[in-house]
Amino acid sequence: MSDVSNKAVVAFGSNMGDRIATIEAALAAMKDKNLNILRLSSLYETKPMYYDDQDPFLNGVCQIETSLEPLQLLDVLQSIENDLGRRRVIDKGPRTMDLDIILYNQEHIKHPRLEVPHKLMLEREFVLRPLADILPYEHLPSSFTPTAAHRPIYQFLQALPEKDISMSPVTVIHRRMPLIRSHDSARKTHVMAILNITPDSFSDGGVHSQKDLKTIKATAKNFIDAGADIIDIGGQSTRPRADYLSAEEELRRILPVVQAIRSMEEADDVALSIDTFHSKVARETILAGADIINDVSAGVHDKDMLSTVAELGKTIILMHMRGDAHTMMRLTDYPGGVVKGVAEELSERVQAARAAGIFPWHIILDPGLGFAKNQQQNLELLRRLRELRDNIEYSAWLKNYPWLTGPSRKGFVGKVTEVQEAPKRSYGTAAAVTASIEGGAEIVRIHDVNEMVQVTKMADAIYRSP
Ligand code: ADP
Ligand code: MG
Repeated sequence: MSDVSNKAVVAFGSNMGDRIATIEAALAAMKDKNLNILRLSSLYETKPMYYDDQDPFLNGVCQIETSLEPLQLLDVLQSIENDLGRRRVIDKGPRTMDLDIILYNQEHIKHPRLEVPHKLMLEREFVLRPLADILPYEHLPSSFTPTAAHRPIYQFLQALPEKDISMSPVTVIHRRMPLIRSHDSARKTHVMAILNITPDSFSDGGVHSQKDLKTIKATAKNFIDAGADIIDIGGQSTRPRADYLSAEEELRRILPVVQAIRSMEEADDVALSIDTFHSKVARETILAGADIINDVSAGVHDKDMLSTVAELGKTIILMHMRGDAHTMMRLTDYPGGVVKGVAEELSERVQAARAAGIFPWHIILDPGLGFAKNQQQNLELLRRLRELRDNIEYSAWLKNYPWLTGPSRKGFVGKVTEVQEAPKRSYGTAAAVTASIEGGAEIVRIHDVNEMVQVTKMADAIYRSP
């Protein structure tokens, strides 16, 4: 093998079996075969083209660096397809894994086994869209597009005669739960129920810590019956001025709870999220069946957090905050405005998560209401959530991810409604939940499950029209 470095773009697609697992296995196999992945797009769910009677595809692209010549690269990719059990029954029909070479340096190759650029790429939105995510300004070999040689990739995407409005980036919540489709205008908002196992929790006095596991299971069952999609288990209060627990102490509190809920048949379809900033807690609870790590520090507090979540292949919620529970209330200076500040600082965390190897379809974002924001800034974030979510001018790094908001019973709600006691702030919370959904949030993290499931259903009926 030569040590010449070539850059190629590989498109991947799957529409059979566990599509996410197959795609992740293909990416791991590429890495094992020394194909160094430089850039990776979001995964898009797309309706099948050409042959209609098949399940939707998941498609994405990656840019790789390789010493292999084009035909050697094709051999490697075909061996990966075969290892993953690709069976081609019908031409352009269902397949477990399809790996195509889209670009190879600026070469234009015409060989009986290999045409690069891939000859159909310009008519395929499921190739152009992810390609425009990672290489919007790249040009194609001029002999391939003689009449449009000046056009960068994103313009070929714009020039498609007909767009598939059903195409959406996806995010994994849980294996047995449908993927979140963040560009689907009819998507349903997920309700994340808060289960605090803290003696000093600001909102419910930590009643759970006094209860035995049986009572906790009953609480979880109530959440599920009321319509919760996700249960967020936390052993550490993150309210202003809370003292931090060690990883060991936190684990002692919540690991038995994770195990207990995972043992419940009723909880099979519910995702378990762990509210922690310790990588050790993340690792142990994931091994016990947790699906999501909800890290208020977005991987800042524990330098091993992002790599741990990447290694274990789970989904992470990256929340915006500054400082810690003791300092955050002073850190509210945002010279360019709070929306821009949150966008920029959260983008850095997205980049860190991506660099640690977390796949784009395993990232959820949270603006961090109540964390290093003053009263006006909390309200402004809710008012301008749509802008934060959709405006890629602030940062292209935030594109395509789902958003979670956590306004429940927080101080800024109490201030507006003049309700001192946190558990009595449901009406104010309901308004903030509605605003979140109007602004495009995919997940709302709340305490009052019965009430907020109703609020969410109503807001979905109003705002999430097909
Ligand atoms: P498609 O990807 O077009 O849906 P297949 O994956 O079944 O269909 O490809 C069939 C053949 O296409 C392969 O055997 C391969 O030799 C050939 N081929 C030509 N150009 C390419 C390319 N750029 N990438 C991958 N395969 C290619
Ligand atoms: Mg192919």
